[in-house]
Amino acid sequence: ATPTALLVGTGRGAQLGILIKGPQVLESTRAVDTVVLDKTGTVTTGRMSLLEVSAAAGEDRDEVLRMAGAVEAASEHPIAQAVARAAAERGGLPPVTGFAGLQGVGVSGTVEGRAVLVGRLGLLRERGYLVPAGVEQALGAARKAGRTAVVVGWDARVRGVLAVADVVRPSSRDAVAALRRLGLRPVLLTGDNDVVARAVAAEVGVDEVFAEVLPAGKVEVVKGLQERGRVVAMVGDGVNDAAALAQADLGLAMGTGTDAAIEAADLTLVRGDLSVAADAIRLSRRTLRVIK
Ligand code: ADP
Ligand code: MG
Repeated sequence: ATPTALLVGTGRGAQLGILIKGPQVLESTRAVDTVVLDKTGTVTTGRMSLLEVSAAAGEDRDEVLRMAGAVEAASEHPIAQAVARAAAERGGLPPVTGFAGLQGVGVSGTVEGRAVLVGRLGLLRERGYLVPAGVEQALGAARKAGRTAVVVGWDARVRGVLAVADVVRPSSRDAVAALRRLGLRPVLLTGDNDVVARAVAAEVGVDEVFAEVLPAGKVEVVKGLQERGRVVAMVGDGVNDAAALAQADLGLAMGTGTDAAIEAADLTLVRGDLSVAADAIRLSRRTLRVIK
C-alpha cells in the first residue's frame, strides 16, 4: 500500500464527511463482511421523548416523574434526557447528590434524602427492591407498543414506570440496504428490550438481532462473531459501545455520539448519518483497489 494513495483516500473521506484516524485504517476494511449496528443513537436518532408515566399503586405520578427527572438530569443518556426534560417542564427539579451512571442499566443518586434508582427492572430487582403488582404489566404494555420502558424506585420499592420512544433515523432503512448491496450482513445490537429491538430491526430491514446486551456483553457479541470467522465493522455512538468499537475490525463512531465512542473508533461519521457508513466502506475498498 503506497502512503500517497491512502492519503488520497483520507482526503476523499473528509469530503464525504468521514473522519479517518490514520491512513492505515482503510486497510482494515478490506475483508469486512458484517456490520454491527448499535440501535439507540445510531439506527435511531437517540432523541427520545417521554410518552407515559405510570405510578405503582399508592404512588403519585408527579412525584414519580419528579424524582426520576432529578436523577436523570445528571445523565447524558437519551432516556435520561427525555425524562429530565419532561420533568423540568413541570417545575424545578431538586438537586441530586452521589449521582452514578450505571452503564447500560440505569442511574442512581440521592434526592431529598432518598436513594433513587432509575433503569431496568432487573437492576432494581438485583438491589432487592420490592416490585408492586402491576409494574410488570405496565412495562409489558409499553414494550408491546414499541416503547422503551424503565422503572424508577426509591427506598427499596419500585414506584413507577416511564415509557419513552425514539424515532428511527429517516436514512437508516436506505443505509441498511446500501450496506447489503456491498455484500455486508447487518446485525442490530442493543442493550434495549428484545421486543423493541425487533420492531426497530424490522423497520430498517435487519434480521439478525442481539438485544438486552449489557455494555460488557457488546464486546462479547463482536468477539463471538469474529470467532465464527466474520470480519466485523461496528457502528456506535455511546460510552457503552466504546469497547465493542475498539474490538471490531473496523470501528465507526457517529459524530453525534459521545467522545468515548469517537476515541475508540477508527472512523467518525461526522454528520451522524448512517448512510455514510456504506460510503466509508466503499471508499476504502476503492482506495485499496487503486493501491494494489
Ligand atoms: P443501546 O444499546 O440501545 O444504545 P443502552 O445500552 O444505552 O442502549 O441502554 C440499555 C438499557 O439500559 C436501556 O434500554 C435502559 O433500560 C437502561 N438504561 C441505560 N441508561 C439509562 C438511564 N440513564 N436511565 C434509565 N435507564 C437506562
Ligand atoms: Mg447507543
